[in-house]
Amino acid sequence: MDFPKLLTDVPKKVENKDLDNILAYTVRQEVINLAGGLPDPSVFPHEQLRDIAERVLKENFDKALQYSPATGVPEFKKEIVSYLSRGLGITGITEDQILVSSGSQEALFALAMTTVSPGDYVFTENPTYYVAVSVFRAFDSVLSGAPIVKGQLNVDLLEGKVKETPPERRKLVYVMPNAQNPTGASMSEETKKHLLEVAERYDLTIVEDDPYSLINYEGKTPRPLKAMDKENRVIYMSTMSKVLAPGLRLGWMVADPYLVKAVTNVKQVIDLNTNTLSQYVAAYALKSRVIENNLENVRRVYTSKRNAMVDELSEVFKDKVEFVKPESGMFVFALFKGVNTRTALEKAIANSVLYLPGDSLYVSDPQYNSARLNFTYPSEDKIREGVRRLKKTFY
Ligand code: PMP
Repeated sequence: MDFPKLLTDVPKKVENKDLDNILAYTVRQEVINLAGGLPDPSVFPHEQLRDIAERVLKENFDKALQYSPATGVPEFKKEIVSYLSRGLGITGITEDQILVSSGSQEALFALAMTTVSPGDYVFTENPTYYVAVSVFRAFDSVLSGAPIVKGQLNVDLLEGKVKETPPERRKLVYVMPNAQNPTGASMSEETKKHLLEVAERYDLTIVEDDPYSLINYEGKTPRPLKAMDKENRVIYMSTMSKVLAPGLRLGWMVADPYLVKAVTNVKQVIDLNTNTLSQYVAAYALKSRVIENNLENVRRVYTSKRNAMVDELSEVFKDKVEFVKPESGMFVFALFKGVNTRTALEKAIANSVLYLPGDSLYVSDPQYNSARLNFTYPSEDKIREGVRRLKKTFY
């Protein structure tokens, strides 16, 4: 069989060796995996979820084991509305503004398929979330990035890039205003306001990807951009993956009902509906405040792990490493003096440590000495050992 003859160019466009590596090495325990974005399974509220799953299957098995509406199970959407309002200050949302998806990743893909035509511009932070880059590349968008300087997106530079672009080609601004992946930076209120002003001036649609707002370590949850959005200009995406469990594969998009309808049309030809059983389990969990009750524990465990990583990096690498201690999220984004983290990756794997080389996180001007390091999944001992293996690899 001539299988290559079967293929379109899409698999090549979205090919991502780093993602393949992360997934492959997640199950290979001998390699210390600092590359992924996995939660620590010890913080999963597994006993509560077990009890809830049992209750769902007793009380609602007829609905929970059935197909369900493409936009999401009504009970779950109702709980999302309340969760966004009480935890994040996103108020005034109605259920017809919500599309439930199989992780926020699916919502992002379906949104891109719905909105982006070849040659359209998507403006991003630089660096940004690398799997989003693959999504936008799948639809032949032109990616244009503005740098994050001292933890703040340079909105003036972003505006400059927008100005250079034909208005009909300006499609989306994709940002992570809180706990940006990979840098861990959160925009100040001023930066958020500035970004909204620019979006208004040029009539831009913003996609706010927000998996990590609640995963923060300094005692305050920053306001999402969506909470400041008076014009329904912000499409908001979030997920159960980091605050509850990624295995549920549940995320959602909040947008104007017109957009929700259009994206739903696309989503339903991908998977008809998101896992119904998961949605019922999550609805019950939200109703009984499982996430809120578990957050303190999550923050305590991750704060300690973050501290282990930044302490070990400073101690082992001294002046050869540069990073900003993250106040939220799951990563340290580090620059290593004189190292090419891409070419060093093979040696790192031989030394049984995996990281995410930073070059693929940039949409332009890659920093080849950068790496994204995850501190939530490995144990503190493994974090420290992993950092020492990085030293052996790089110097
Ligand atoms: N956006 C960002 C910024 C992420 O870090 C992730 C998970 N790594 C996702 C989206 C997708 O998460 P999920 O599909 O599990 O909701």
